[in-house]
Amino acid sequence: MLFLTLRDDPADAEIPSHKLLLRAGYIRRIGSGVYAYLPLMWRVLQKVSQIVREEMNAAGAQECLLPQLQPADLWKESGRWDTYTKAEGIMFSLKDRRDQEQALGPTHEEVITTIARDMIRSYRQLPQLLYQIQTKFRDEIRPRFGLMRGREFIMKDAYSFNVDEESLEKTYQDMHIAYSNILRRSGLAFRDVQADSGAIGGSASQEFMVLAEAGEDEVLYTKDGQYAANVEKAVSLPPDAQPSAFTNYEKRETPGTETIEKVCEFLKCSSTQLVKNVLYETIFDNGTSVLVLVSIRGDQEVNDVKLQNELTKLAPKYDAKTVIKLAVPDTEAQAKWASKPLPLGYIAPDVADDYIKSVKNIAPGFLRLVDKTATDLKNFVTGANESGYHVVGANWGEQVKLPEFAVDVRKARPGDRAKHNPEQTLESARGIEVGHIFQLGTKYSIAMGATFTNEQGEEKPLLMGCYGVGVSRLAQAAVEQSYDKDGIIWPVAIAPYHAIITIPNINDAQQVEIAEKLYTQLNQAGVETLLDDRNERAGVKFKDADLIGIPYRIVTGRAIANGKVEVVERKSRKSHEIAIADVVSTLNQWIQSVNSEQRSQ
Ligand code: ATP
Ligand code: MG
Repeated sequence: MLFLTLRDDPADAEIPSHKLLLRAGYIRRIGSGVYAYLPLMWRVLQKVSQIVREEMNAAGAQECLLPQLQPADLWKESGRWDTYTKAEGIMFSLKDRRDQEQALGPTHEEVITTIARDMIRSYRQLPQLLYQIQTKFRDEIRPRFGLMRGREFIMKDAYSFNVDEESLEKTYQDMHIAYSNILRRSGLAFRDVQADSGAIGGSASQEFMVLAEAGEDEVLYTKDGQYAANVEKAVSLPPDAQPSAFTNYEKRETPGTETIEKVCEFLKCSSTQLVKNVLYETIFDNGTSVLVLVSIRGDQEVNDVKLQNELTKLAPKYDAKTVIKLAVPDTEAQAKWASKPLPLGYIAPDVADDYIKSVKNIAPGFLRLVDKTATDLKNFVTGANESGYHVVGANWGEQVKLPEFAVDVRKARPGDRAKHNPEQTLESARGIEVGHIFQLGTKYSIAMGATFTNEQGEEKPLLMGCYGVGVSRLAQAAVEQSYDKDGIIWPVAIAPYHAIITIPNINDAQQVEIAEKLYTQLNQAGVETLLDDRNERAGVKFKDADLIGIPYRIVTGRAIANGKVEVVERKSRKSHEIAIADVVSTLNQWIQSVNSEQRSQ
């Protein structure tokens, strides 16, 4: 076996699971976000894939394999070519020798929709549910943490086609159950949370999060178990605003108070009584740049994901379809469109449009949005549109015009009261997103003309859902959730091998003979077993066995004099002396009981 473990932590690995997989010889870095899955890792990935496959098949899904090389035309039809090559820039694209643009599949909605368009004609063929397990390519901005965020990774993606919302909801629920089963059977502690649908589009979506400190996502949840959401999507009740002390409208000189903190200190008021105005610049897919002014209560923050979703909804106002970029413009960016220096830190919701000079591709006025936290304020403080001045005691519709679009773009925070029950407060946890299920609706079928004839003989767009599991990310997430100072502790169901036989001294013929015999018997009986017959010190071999995290270690040591071997459970470190003749049946029984426990939980 090509087996090599490292004593020290590799320099470029930051989180425990990444370090351990490298050290234990599971993976090897080939390039940024690109890894070789070595034999041990491949076995783990096959196990995870098999669990996924079994659960998908049980839900009636059909396995297929779609092309990774995808013609740009399909992506242009769906309208995602620009978003994926420019906005998120996450898709690898290339030109072939005929000068045709191609992409390496980051996801397969376009491919599957074109197949459905060709093959599905009638409601009689519906519903359909297809899936594949395959390598995906994404040119991630920050590939990191090993398999967690790769540029090449393994995903199971499934797509459903349904006649109506009700049927889609049913498939979505089936997938929810399948995903819960997959994670439970893989031995993971997880949580399903409400999620943002992002660039994939569509309405309802949920993510499956493996709870771990190293997770890149923040989950907000309530202790009563009634609410859990990705922070990108989460909602809550904001703290109540303090009543305002300013009953008269007045302009005040407030020198050097560009920040909320400073102005509150200067005016001796609460940040909940202040309307702050955050400037963004967004670029739409048609190249139009729009200056966006978001008015929000002083103590609250803007959630960029929610804001981007609102801007996408407003895109048609600018003859555009989607947002390509959203950023807070720095001085350099401002120089491109500002006709005069902006009163930064003192901007009011009604700052004049003539700060924007007339430039091609820049919308002439501000797009003004107001968060619901700000619309309720009375006698508030805000900027005076003049450096060094604020106004106090202002009211909407009196001194300050209410921005045109009222939206919810506020970031929910830990400690906020929950909407479903104000007595519950939001708690925060870190999670690794291993699965995501979406109700896509008709976004792709309408864009690409995938229709069917319903029972009444009418032509209707197909309703779609899509369902992804990060197979390689899930495998690493399992390590992130289960390790100790000595190494990995694989859940039995996805461990590369169930058992490892360690021969303490390979010069002892009896030890070797018993080990080899057990090795054959165990493998024949379906207990996947590795034999460590290297000519190394026993201590080295024990260390390696711990590091690679095989659930059961069998040692043909001193106990063989009494016809026994030592069996050590990796997780609990419990050691048992078991008669040689009983090893196969005992291990088989242990493995089965762990697996069935996980299945039935
Ligand atoms: P993320 O927010 O982490 O980038 P995503 O929302 O882009 O994920 P989806 O497009 O829903 O992910 O993909 C389905 C699943 O594929 C994810 O739930 C995740 O488990 C996995 N996945 C996505 N991107 C990567 C990646 N770069 N490396 C490894 N796995 C990934
Ligand atoms: Mg992503």
